[in-house]
Amino acid sequence: MVLGYRVETFVIRTRFAPSPTGPLHLGHAYSAITAHDFARVQGGEFLLRIEDIDQSRARPVWEAQILDDLHWLGLTWHGPVLRQSERLTTYSEAIEILNAAGLLYCCTCTRRDIAQAVSAPQEGVLTHSCPDSTVYPGTCRSSDETIKRIEGAPLRLNMALALNGRSSVSFMELISLQSLPKININNTKYIIDKIGDIVILRKNEEAAYHLAVVVDDAAQDITHVVRGDDLKLATPIHAVLQQLLGLPTPTYMHHPLIRDETGKRLAKRDDAKAISKFRAEGATPAGIRAMIGL
Ligand SMILES: [Zn+2]
Repeated sequence: MVLGYRVETFVIRTRFAPSPTGPLHLGHAYSAITAHDFARVQGGEFLLRIEDIDQSRARPVWEAQILDDLHWLGLTWHGPVLRQSERLTTYSEAIEILNAAGLLYCCTCTRRDIAQAVSAPQEGVLTHSCPDSTVYPGTCRSSDETIKRIEGAPLRLNMALALNGRSSVSFMELISLQSLPKININNTKYIIDKIGDIVILRKNEEAAYHLAVVVDDAAQDITHVVRGDDLKLATPIHAVLQQLLGLPTPTYMHHPLIRDETGKRLAKRDDAKAISKFRAEGATPAGIRAMIGL
């Protein structure tokens, strides 16, 4: 207490958000330990979220194994585990905010339709890959704007409309955990041309990853998102969605991905690098940290 005022301190909050679709491997351990230690060193909080929105692939047995491996690694987390499968109503409410603002449209294209459209040179559309693999050519955006919502069909974000009147989208980024944050600026034209109209609601009425992740980071009051380089390209999308939904934008830190001896990125299915396998072979948590250079 200073002169009767209580000084509110800023608490750093990081998170680890695995999908329970396979074993925790060295790459996950790197991400989890990095986020955990970053929060702990600064007296902050580390949170856990299970990204089990894809119920066709998520398995309780994998979630149990992931939690067990994280405990074994010595990681503890603040508060209850947040599960995406329990937050579907919240995602629907966020989607409705975008829909009510007129920023979403129904897309009835098949994968083949999109592939054919982007490969047709006379269309003049970009074939540049983006976080959603191919930039959507906008086929349904240009259709009658009064088109009704079609049950079961995906909804896309009209990116040009969402960014209307803005020249750039920015967010704070740490290049390393020791550096000062710098501003990462993405110009609007780049986002519209190279990222485009991303899916917000998938065809099975399932909220898309980009929507769920920004809603969840806000719900967990995450101040610093520490995650792999593979999501760096998606971060401007997240900043756009945060602004459209009136949510705060955390500071981001993208770490290099752990690769195997041949330089190949560790896939979830790469059971040879599973933490459970190292445990069975007698590894220690300190040994795992040494293996990944932490
Ligand atoms: Zn379409």
